[in-house]
Amino acid sequence: MSAMCISTNASTERYSLRQALTMGLAPDGGLLMPESLPRMPQAFLDSLPGMSFQEIAYALGRALLGDLLDDGALRRLITEAFSFPLPLRRLSDKLSVLELFHGPSLAFKDVGARFMAALLQELRALAAPETTILVATSGDTGAAVAHAFYKRPGFRVVVLYPSKRISTLQEQQIATLGGNVTAVEVIGTFDDCQRLVKQALLDREINEQMDLSSANSINLARLLPQIFYYFYALSQLPKDSLPVVFAVPSGNLGNLCAGLFAARMGLPHHKFVAALNANTALKDFFSSGVLTPRPAQATISNAMDVGNPSNMARIVHLYGADLNLLRSDIAVSSHSDTQTRAALAELQQRYGYIADPHTAVGYLGAKEYAADFSSAWHTVVLATAHPAKFAEALAGVVTLPTELPAALQAARQGKKYSILAPPDFAAIKRILLAESSSG
Ligand SMILES: *Cc1c(COP(=O)(O)O)cnc(C)c1O
Repeated sequence: MSAMCISTNASTERYSLRQALTMGLAPDGGLLMPESLPRMPQAFLDSLPGMSFQEIAYALGRALLGDLLDDGALRRLITEAFSFPLPLRRLSDKLSVLELFHGPSLAFKDVGARFMAALLQELRALAAPETTILVATSGDTGAAVAHAFYKRPGFRVVVLYPSKRISTLQEQQIATLGGNVTAVEVIGTFDDCQRLVKQALLDREINEQMDLSSANSINLARLLPQIFYYFYALSQLPKDSLPVVFAVPSGNLGNLCAGLFAARMGLPHHKFVAALNANTALKDFFSSGVLTPRPAQATISNAMDVGNPSNMARIVHLYGADLNLLRSDIAVSSHSDTQTRAALAELQQRYGYIADPHTAVGYLGAKEYAADFSSAWHTVVLATAHPAKFAEALAGVVTLPTELPAALQAARQGKKYSILAPPDFAAIKRILLAESSSG
């Protein structure tokens, strides 16, 4: 049996895992999550040291997915989705970084996007019509989702991104693939792109003519695989480092939420630190108990510029809305761009480590919580993006190696194909319907 899922809107409806993994939102508008999380046996925790990422993913995937996939399908999915290393680098006795950015788009979002793509393919009926995945991006998600579905039979991807508001490299990563990936440059903001996706998902005519789905960060299939790497971090640390503090650079709180799921499954931990930039919705909620969405503020850690974090609903639900319980498991900190730049320089001076701005925010959260690493705890900072991806933000602060990673080099040299569109629904609808009829 596999677990049943519920909606955070707390209606009494329950959903099968298959439904929950293939639907974006619950029909009542809430976020989907497992009704309960399986507790891993002590024998699994004892055997972590030395296990490979694939072995850990298999054990956790089996426990989470139950009988949804047979053994062969689960192994195939894991081998295919996680074709890159996720190394833990020890910077000192008290500090490590878990590098999650060695996938094709060089950000941790590859983990969720690639698992989701491979899972949807396993769950797909052979004769099913082509599925169109529509996704809005502020930068990293679009590249990860486009690469995850690229050349995958039975799928087509349409990525909406805001014109001139993502970095040149990010745009190149999305718009040079071609094939079954269509890049649409929307003359507007990220919020426009997100609104257009929602409108398309609800449009009757579009849904009659094509099988349309989404792949944004609220999708449960992107969240579950992020549980795996928390356990993998521990498998790479000596036993006397446990339990550790996990510092998570946070925006939409998906990464943090996956960590809290891992904790429910038995992950030995001392604390989670949610490290924020100037977008402090979670911090304000922790101090006031009231969730106040705000417009996003632009920072140099732009993938964390979120005013209304979508995974908040899952986290609140997981803790039965008990604010004190939340505060006892999670410490929240926030950091300015000035502090982030100083942290980038400090990481290079102290440890010879070049981080990206998001990871630097995580480091600041870790340093604050662990009193400059004088406390007893070992801290693992999740490193969410490759520094070369954010070269503009690092210029003048740290010296990057001149050699670009191969994945970025290919993207930089590729020819850009994108469709320029005004931020109105009629234009997006025309593009979607033309794409589906041209096959
Ligand atoms: C998306 C992203 C984040 C934020 O992760 P959430 O799961 O949304 O909190 C942090 N760093 C990078 C590089 C990202 O792309």
